Amino acid sequence: MLKLYNTLSRKKEVFRPRRPGKVRKVNLFVCGITSYDFSHIGHARTYIVFDVIAKYLREKGFDVFYLQNITDIDDKIIKRAKEKKIPPQKLARDFEKEYLKDMKSLKIDSVTKYARATEHIKEIISQVERLFKKGYAYKIEDGIYYDISKFRDYGKLSKRSVLQAEDAVSRIDEAKEKRNKGDFCLWKFSKPGEPKWQSPFGWGRPGWHIEDTAITEKYFGYQYDIHGGARDLIFPHHEAEIAQMEAISGRKPMVKYWLHTGFLTVGGQKMAKSLGNFITIRDFLKENSPRVLKFLVIKNHYRSPVDYNEKIISQTKKELERIDEFISKLKEQKTKNKKQEVKNLILKTEKEFKNAMDDDFNTPKAVAVILNLVNKGNSLIAKNKMGSKNANGILNLLKNFDEVLGINLTKARDSITITKTLKYEIKKFPFPQEILNLVKERENYRKEGLWQKADEIRRKIKKMGYLVQDTKKGPKIKKYERGNCF
Ligand SMILES: [Zn+2]
Repeated sequence: MLKLYNTLSRKKEVFRPRRPGKVRKVNLFVCGITSYDFSHIGHARTYIVFDVIAKYLREKGFDVFYLQNITDIDDKIIKRAKEKKIPPQKLARDFEKEYLKDMKSLKIDSVTKYARATEHIKEIISQVERLFKKGYAYKIEDGIYYDISKFRDYGKLSKRSVLQAEDAVSRIDEAKEKRNKGDFCLWKFSKPGEPKWQSPFGWGRPGWHIEDTAITEKYFGYQYDIHGGARDLIFPHHEAEIAQMEAISGRKPMVKYWLHTGFLTVGGQKMAKSLGNFITIRDFLKENSPRVLKFLVIKNHYRSPVDYNEKIISQTKKELERIDEFISKLKEQKTKNKKQEVKNLILKTEKEFKNAMDDDFNTPKAVAVILNLVNKGNSLIAKNKMGSKNANGILNLLKNFDEVLGINLTKARDSITITKTLKYEIKKFPFPQEILNLVKERENYRKEGLWQKADEIRRKIKKMGYLVQDTKKGPKIKKYERGNCF
């Protein structure tokens, strides 16, 4: 039975979709990016988490509609476009493309629909109009605002109605004429030169919070199952969404389960360009393989804070190497014998994995289950208690886990050719980084004609269990086994 922690109730609850009769349909909405810059590894964390969650729900037989918005009109976009002297729409499209490229590199492919704010202006205007009619909205000089004092439940998600340090404070709408300090903007009147749309209240553009409810109303209706996002969006953003939608519909709750991801810090501090610890997904992937980032994320519970630092990265890589080496060994198993012991291990592991994931998507526990399987499997191999059928059984099990986790668990290759794009190839290679560094060093010696030194390194590599052969394309590396010659 799947349980998940609901921010609304601050409790773990049994997951029951809103309309259980309707072929187990689950509507999931996650706040998307504001496309004005490259996405960073904090964004990646949230989207990796919800990718795993969507995939696990599907694995459990739910028919998941995963919707994500893209904020393509916003103060930040207008400001950045001005700096770059390009139209805001172009900037937004460019960074949307880059974001989707990043998602593709990370193999995040569970989103059913990406919905742009600017393609839902009609729906946004309709929501503002209804809020007006019901007395929740008022007009002042620079736009239409929401009067939070009119909505009795304001603060029920965050348990507060004023800002705190962790909030995404850059998004507070400041205007002197506001009725209450916390009132937020629904429709901003356009200033000269800014993108604008016609509305019954005047030319302008949507406030930030209204696009989400306009989009979810269009695809899901007044109420739906799960809303996700990073925890700094709880207030005021998600609080505002509830205020908008529940005021319009008169129905509650707008969302049955609210799921929030914890923060990702770098070197113990919040990521900030001014601190020089700002890591974009793009930059991370220049040095590391996508699976390192994904594995780092799922090794931690989605609600816990994660700190990114060198030590954690190297530990993550070591664990991946352990899994990869185990996969290589499994693929080498040739004997025909089938052992009940392995069969039992497979059944036990499968159950433990499911129990971990059913417990509020406890991926760290699921990873521990996998590493335990690696340990036990290795010792069975050492005792010659693993036949090829058994090994295939484990490989299939890991493949199933990977349908959810998406870290290429079973794709370990047994050889690689390092081509001219040395760096790029290295990151895809699942064997120890140390070997790759040595191969790189040897290549440098060869370029300088220092053949003796190059040979010394080749011998060193062989001692460590790997072979290097120079091919036309570049050096080819393979695990060294007896009788294994190029
Ligand atoms: Zn949002």
